[in-house]
Amino acid sequence: MPAFLLHATASDECASRAGVPAGFAAAFTRAPGARRFGAVFVDLPYFTAFPLQIARHFRGRVSLSDPWGHVFHTRGVGRFALALVEAVRRRHLDARDDGAAAIAFLGGYLSHHAMDRLIHPIVQRHVREELARSGGWFESHHTEAEKYQSLFFHQERLGHDIMGTAYPRDVTSSFPGASLWAARVPAELASVIESAVVEVHAHAPSRATLDAWLRWTSWYGVLLSGKQGWREGVAALADAAALRRRYYTDTDLAGQVDRATALTLEYLRAAEEVLRAEAIDRAARARFLDMVPDVDLDVGS
Ligand SMILES: [Zn+2]
Repeated sequence: MPAFLLHATASDECASRAGVPAGFAAAFTRAPGARRFGAVFVDLPYFTAFPLQIARHFRGRVSLSDPWGHVFHTRGVGRFALALVEAVRRRHLDARDDGAAAIAFLGGYLSHHAMDRLIHPIVQRHVREELARSGGWFESHHTEAEKYQSLFFHQERLGHDIMGTAYPRDVTSSFPGASLWAARVPAELASVIESAVVEVHAHAPSRATLDAWLRWTSWYGVLLSGKQGWREGVAALADAAALRRRYYTDTDLAGQVDRATALTLEYLRAAEEVLRAEAIDRAARARFLDMVPDVDLDVGS
């Protein structure tokens, strides 16, 4: 979950780059919140039983894993993108006023795919080092590495620590349908997501589950923007300089995020090509999956 905001911010950076294909650029301008929502979608299942997760966090326990979180990261991750592309085509969303959200969501999803592929190998190396050094659970080392990556990345790129500032809340409140009490993913977008998940996994989380995930992201944003966020920020770290070196500088995290952005732009071009093709045939599908493959995003590759 600590990488949650990193994904949203990386997607913002990508959207502001030259070279975003025209169809996506237009959708990103109209629906930035849907793009960010797409960029964190794969991680939404970690918000299942969020109050319990918070309680575990304070007691130093590893966060609970959710089957959907595992499935979204490890199975058909390229085919899911292709299913979104085909859903956009099937519904002619690129020709409709209300179609921007689904196209922006797809663009955000592609950036998560690229980021996990390039950042998770670094996280895996940290996990191995920590396991060798101190034992413990691989999940907690994974979470910890991502937390430091996110802290120092944001501090560097935005010029200040984001914890305890309005930033987390601004990100989560931009998601379409976001609300602390009555969150609801807009019907058309929810339907596109549902159809793509069903195509790849044969069934999908219920709308109520999707809405609950969205709702808890709003609480997450509010929590991190408050006092609790500040307590988890850079200022609260005893050895910030050493941690920064280890998790940010020595691994060239900044360079790796830039490479992920470049990869996302290639993904977007591949998606735009399929969106604009006369018809989608086997060769077009194969070309897309060659560019956006079914890999294990949990470990990256
Ligand atoms: Zn992820």
